[in-house]
Amino acid sequence: MNITFVVAMMAEAQPFIDNFGVKEVPDFFDPLPSKLYHARLGRATDLYVVLNGQQHGSDLIGCESASVATQAAIQKLHPDLVINSGTCGAFKSNGADIARVYLGNAVMFHDRRVPGDDEWGTQALGNYDVWSGTEALAKKLDLPMGKVTTGSSLDMQPCDLQIIKENKGELKDMEGAAVAFVCSLYHVPVLLVKSVTDLCDSSAETYDEFKRNLARASEELCKVNVRIIEELLQ
Ligand code: SAH
Repeated sequence: MNITFVVAMMAEAQPFIDNFGVKEVPDFFDPLPSKLYHARLGRATDLYVVLNGQQHGSDLIGCESASVATQAAIQKLHPDLVINSGTCGAFKSNGADIARVYLGNAVMFHDRRVPGDDEWGTQALGNYDVWSGTEALAKKLDLPMGKVTTGSSLDMQPCDLQIIKENKGELKDMEGAAVAFVCSLYHVPVLLVKSVTDLCDSSAETYDEFKRNLARASEELCKVNVRIIEELLQ
């Protein structure tokens, strides 16, 4: 089995990299800045962690970087399962809390507005399939599930919120739907694992809250990912 994680930020991946002792495979995606880490688990499982890489001195976040990294990973690694692991904003009105880790039971874009209930509007929202084993895994590990909604911004404009609410979005991130989109094109199953760094309906400044909680949320993300791997290896 080949399990490939696609992660935007090193801070999100570091606890996981340390835990599994995955080793960097230098220049694997050259000339892309994406980075590859690999470990062999047991006899038959390859665990890969793909990071989007850096540009302008910071980790590449967002849909374009996630799409490029996911496409390169699928073409070069042929994963059986892609896991997009990362952080997100969530809503305390839905019962969310900082550092709680969710599995995505659905995924869409919330900032691609093509008005009208037609094919283009449907395409813009995306609503891609997630791995069919997601619900059973969530039950087995007693994890909450939620709908991931992806956009290109950390902040949230009123029109974003409106689309999120209309579509019952719960976990706001910047990569999930892009990863799922590429996976849908290649018919590769995708699992979304999202840890909450900030509450979109709190009065705190999102970026401050994100920075304050990033380390803790990433630790909890790692713990859940370890349990997921254990379960998948059963
Ligand atoms: N790299 C910057 C900030 C990145 S914030 C820094 O640390 O200075 C955005 C990242 O966290 C994205 O990868 C996104 O997927 C996730 N994220 C966390 N909370 C989010 C929110 N409320 N809205 C959108 N993305 C969020």
